[in-house]
Amino acid sequence: MDDEAPKGAFLKTAAKVAKSGFALLAKPAFQARLEACGTCALSIKKDNTITCSSCGCDMGIKARFSATECPINPDW
Ligand code: SF4
Repeated sequence: MDDEAPKGAFLKTAAKVAKSGFALLAKPAFQARLEACGTCALSIKKDNTITCSSCGCDMGIKARFSATECPINPDW
């Protein structure tokens, strides 16, 4: 994986989250996202955290913000 890709993706996501006013998802929607990540082949699960190997983000943080998107799943 290109080291610059996750950094660029992180900055783009952070800008979108800030622009949304750091709007958070309701808990059920957040849980649904975590469940999707938990069964995703691109997730890395370690010590009760889920990291996405595609975007490099901690899903316990990223998935809480309504302005974030999964890089591959349009329903997330
Ligand atoms: S954000 Fe998308 S690609 Fe990344 S772990 Fe979650 S479901 Fe998989």
